[in-house]
Amino acid sequence: MLNQTVSKNRISLWCLFLVAVFSWKVAFAEELLIRNVHIISGDKPNVSSPKDVFIRDGIILNIGHDLPPSKTVIEGKNQYLIPGLIDTHVHLQGIPGVITKDGKQPKFVDEAIAQIPRSYLYFGFTTLLDLISHRSFIEDWNNQSVAPQAFFCHSIIIPDGYPIQGNSHKHQFSSPLVHSLVFNPEQSELYPSNFPKAEQTPEKMVNRAKNEGARCIKVFYEKGFGRWKNLPVPPIALIQEIIQHAHKQDLIVLLHANSQTSHEFGLASKVDGIVHGMWHWGNLSTANTLTKRQFAKRYAETNIWVQPTIQVIAGEKEIFKPTFFLHKALEHVMPKSLLDWYQSDEGQWMKNDLSQNFGNDFEDAEDLYLKVKDAYSTPINNLLSFTKMLSQEGATLLFGSDTPSGPFYTQFPGINGRWEMDRWMDAGLSPNVLFTSMTVQNARAIGMEASIGQVSVGMKANLLLLNENPLVDVSAYDTINKVILNGVVIDRHMLSATEL
Ligand SMILES: [Zn+2]
Repeated sequence: MLNQTVSKNRISLWCLFLVAVFSWKVAFAEELLIRNVHIISGDKPNVSSPKDVFIRDGIILNIGHDLPPSKTVIEGKNQYLIPGLIDTHVHLQGIPGVITKDGKQPKFVDEAIAQIPRSYLYFGFTTLLDLISHRSFIEDWNNQSVAPQAFFCHSIIIPDGYPIQGNSHKHQFSSPLVHSLVFNPEQSELYPSNFPKAEQTPEKMVNRAKNEGARCIKVFYEKGFGRWKNLPVPPIALIQEIIQHAHKQDLIVLLHANSQTSHEFGLASKVDGIVHGMWHWGNLSTANTLTKRQFAKRYAETNIWVQPTIQVIAGEKEIFKPTFFLHKALEHVMPKSLLDWYQSDEGQWMKNDLSQNFGNDFEDAEDLYLKVKDAYSTPINNLLSFTKMLSQEGATLLFGSDTPSGPFYTQFPGINGRWEMDRWMDAGLSPNVLFTSMTVQNARAIGMEASIGQVSVGMKANLLLLNENPLVDVSAYDTINKVILNGVVIDRHMLSATEL
C-alpha cells in the first residue's frame, strides 16, 4: 500500500516535471528577430547604426545586417535596443506600510504581491538584488512566471544593532532573526547561554550564505536616527573577518552607511561597496574628518563602490505631498484597491507618524509640505553634491533604488527606480554614467557580467526596446514599448497594474 502510494506520487511528480520542461521549451524555443534597430551597449555606450538581432532559446545568437527572417519578427526602425536594467538595492518581501491584523489579509495584499514583479518589469528592471533575503523567498520569487530574476545578500547583524534594534532580546535570539546574528565578543554579556556561538562565527555564517546561493553579505554601521539613538555598531575587526571569509568564497561585502562616521568606517574596513550616499554631514565634523571631495577621491582610489540611493530621502519627503496620488503613472504600479487604502485614515499611519517631527505650526497640508521640503533640503543637497563629486573623481557608482527603504507608499516598485534616475540627473550626472551603472556596472557587481548587462552575442536576451535614445535624455526610459525577458516579448502595457 505504502509502496503503491509512493510510486503514484512519483508518477505525478514526473508528470509535473514534464509539464515544466514542456512549458519552458515553449517559452524559449521561439526564435525572435529584431530588425533595423539601434543598439546601445557597453562601458562607453554609443548608438550603433541599424542592425538585426537574432535570439533563440533566450540567448542572443547573432547581431548583423540582413539576417534571415524568423518566426517572430519585430521591426525596430528608429528604435533603441538596450540591455534590461539592473537595480542592486531592493527589498522584495511585503508591501510598504501594510500591516495585516489578526492574520486577516485584505484582498489588495494578494493583488499587490502579484503586481510587484510586473511593476519592476514595466519600468525596465529585469534583474534585482535583494539586500536582505534568503534562499527560499528568492527561489519562490524566481519561480513566478513573469518576474525579473532576483539575487540576494545574506545579512550579518549584531545584537541590538540596526536593523533589528526594535526587537526584544527574546525575539532577536530566537528564530529566524538568530540566523543573522553573529557572535560579537564586545557584547558577550548579551547572549543567552543557549546561543550557538560556535555556529554564528563570521566564517561559518559566510560559508552558509555561500551554500544557500547568496551573492553578497550585507553588514551595517548605523548609530541611529529618529528615536533610535546610540545603537551599537560592529567593531572593525569583526567586519574585516567577515570580508576575509567572504572574499575566500567569492562573495562581496556591502555596508549600510549614510553618515561621515559610517563612510569613514567603510573606507577603513575596505568593504566592497557602500549602499547609501552620505546624507548626514556637518555636525559630526572634526579637524581630522575628510572633506566630501577627499572622500570621493578615496573611493575612486580604493575602488570601493558607492550606491547613492538619493530616493530614500527624496521619497520619504514626498509622503507629505498633497497631490502625490494624482501622479498619473501610479495606476500602472499598484492596484487601485491598494492606492485607495493608502489614502484612507488607516493607510495614512506612516504619514501621521512622521508628521509628529514637524509640530503643529502649519496652516494646511500644502504649508506642511513646504516645511518638510525645507527640512529635507540639507540631506538631499548633501546627497546630490556628494554624488556629483564621486562621479567627477571617477569613483564607481552602483545604481540602486532601495525600494522600499521604509514603510513608505512613495517608493513603489519600478517607479522608484525611475525616480532614482531623475535624482542622478538632479546631481548633474550624465545619461551615459547612469546607463552604464544600471547595466554593465551592476552586472559586474553581482558577478553576472558574462550573461547580462550588454547587448552582445552569447548574452541572455533580457532587453528593452525604447522609442527614444536614453543617452540623450533620461525621459527615454518612459518610452519603453517592449520588455524582452529571456527572449520572450512582452508589450509594456500588459505589465501595468490596470491589466492585472
Ligand atoms: Zn535597503
